[in-house]
Amino acid sequence: MPESRVDLAALPQDERLNRMRHSAAHVLAEAMVELMPDAELGIGPPIDTGFYYDFRLPRALTNEDLAWLEERMRKSVGRKHPFVMGSITKGEAEKLWAKQPFKLELLADLEEGNVTQCTHAGFTDLCRGGHVNDTSEIGPFKLMSIAGAYWRGSEKNPQLQRVYGALFETEADLAAYEQQLEEARRRDHRRIGRELELFALYDEVGPGHVVWLPAGATIRRELERWIVDLELEHGYQHVVTPVVAKSELYKISGHWDHYQEAMYPVMERDGEEYVLRPMNCPHHIMIFANGQHSYRDLPLRIAEIGNMHRWEKSGQLTGMSRVRIMSLNDSHIFCTDAEQVEQEVEGVLRLMEEVYGILGLKKYSYRLSLGDREDKEKYVDNPEMWARGEALLRRVLQKVGLPFHEAKGEAAFYGPKIDVEFATAAGKDETLVTVQVDFHLPGQFKLEYIGEDGERHQPIIVHRGIISTMERMVALLIEEYEGNFPLWLAPTQVAVIPIADRHVAYAEEVAKELRAAKLRVTVDSRNERMQSKIRDAQLKKVPYMLVVGDREAEARAAAVRVRGGGDLGAMPLTAIIERLRTERDTKALVP
Ligand SMILES: [Zn+2]
Ligand SMILES: [Zn+2]
Repeated sequence: MPESRVDLAALPQDERLNRMRHSAAHVLAEAMVELMPDAELGIGPPIDTGFYYDFRLPRALTNEDLAWLEERMRKSVGRKHPFVMGSITKGEAEKLWAKQPFKLELLADLEEGNVTQCTHAGFTDLCRGGHVNDTSEIGPFKLMSIAGAYWRGSEKNPQLQRVYGALFETEADLAAYEQQLEEARRRDHRRIGRELELFALYDEVGPGHVVWLPAGATIRRELERWIVDLELEHGYQHVVTPVVAKSELYKISGHWDHYQEAMYPVMERDGEEYVLRPMNCPHHIMIFANGQHSYRDLPLRIAEIGNMHRWEKSGQLTGMSRVRIMSLNDSHIFCTDAEQVEQEVEGVLRLMEEVYGILGLKKYSYRLSLGDREDKEKYVDNPEMWARGEALLRRVLQKVGLPFHEAKGEAAFYGPKIDVEFATAAGKDETLVTVQVDFHLPGQFKLEYIGEDGERHQPIIVHRGIISTMERMVALLIEEYEGNFPLWLAPTQVAVIPIADRHVAYAEEVAKELRAAKLRVTVDSRNERMQSKIRDAQLKKVPYMLVVGDREAEARAAAVRVRGGGDLGAMPLTAIIERLRTERDTKALVP
């Protein structure tokens, strides 16, 4: 029974692609059973960039296998095999798939009368249908990679080998996708972080627990100093609060009820219960709660680079961009009323624009994240509060003139927020920072201030980040700069390279003067050729290399080379220091 002929051109592109991708998965399985007749077949669905198929195989696949399979698939595609659907009874199917444990498991879930299969080129697979007419209609594809995958996604099940294929409608689309992957690989902060020794993850320390190595810690320190200074300038007051609190604190805040899944396990001792904080808010709120406040003290802007702990699923952890322990550039602004909240949110948005401008970040957008009045499980039930908060944030975004889109059901449990979403190298949008208006927690903690009228009033809290967690921001910057950090952030700013041993002493002198100007300098005194020292400094992405020999020592100068290949020739040491200082202090971006 041939599947009734489909007019592919008449289908919407999504469906056409789905059919091609689904069909390609069949062809991949056909090729695999020829390569390894003992292959046990799992499932092979289409995905949004192509398809995959899971197999249990007698041995690990190699890249040579991948090339062979792809070649074999192309042969099948060239032969124009029709896809033919058929219905069989469960009994027949069980016989047919007797040696295929995964198929038998799938069969067990099917109802009699509902078992269908698809045959092409003499290869049959259990299938519900949805193919192209014959193999020649399968679009341009390429087998991309091999990965491990658990049967039905559960760690309790056997591990299978998953072969990924990319498939697009045109060669140009496929090439564009490959280029995007290559770009993502080139920018991947995990790879660059390893090569430049910026950070590390050790299983013994814990998954998602980032260890900042000296070079990465330098970048982080510079960012922290900068943002803290900037915040002090904007009237924030910085505090330091403990990362552990009694669970009581989180019961009052409501995190215990709404957020416990994401928290580390509770610590108990001597009848007391403690938690690692998942958020800094309650700690900052305690500072406010324990003081007397007049309307004149508000807005009060409490800030901290605060460590937080969240039990992210291990499958979600990614380098430094998804971690379990993170340091947030956090602040809680206690405001008198909605008018003050508007001013403060405006100030926050303007500060964001300033900061992202200096960092050279452009690929981000603003999202107004709304609550969902229907969902009383996820969100606190206070329709009036939600309406006020949402309208307020919308107004501020419009006032500052920032383009934004709205998304229902993306708010925090206690209030609406503005999310800043950044495009990552992998082509995804990730929320890095948020601004939230909170009418809820002040009530939970019974916060109050004395108003102009001498009466007690409840303040409103604005929660906000600017540069996100240090982990996420540095991951983003690594990808944005491809490791070529601007001078002010570069872990090593200058490498001094003596041409021969006899120039080491002068090189040390040069380094000393640069260090006096608070520049981060190394002297490469290894017994290597100058060219290879320059190459090593380039690989480490050091912005400046100062080569010194007899002439330079005599003239108190150095031959200046710039990362990326520029050669500025010999310059007097004083002029070099002047130049570097200016570049550093203006936070100039690399061209
Ligand atoms: Zn199928
Ligand atoms: Zn907060």
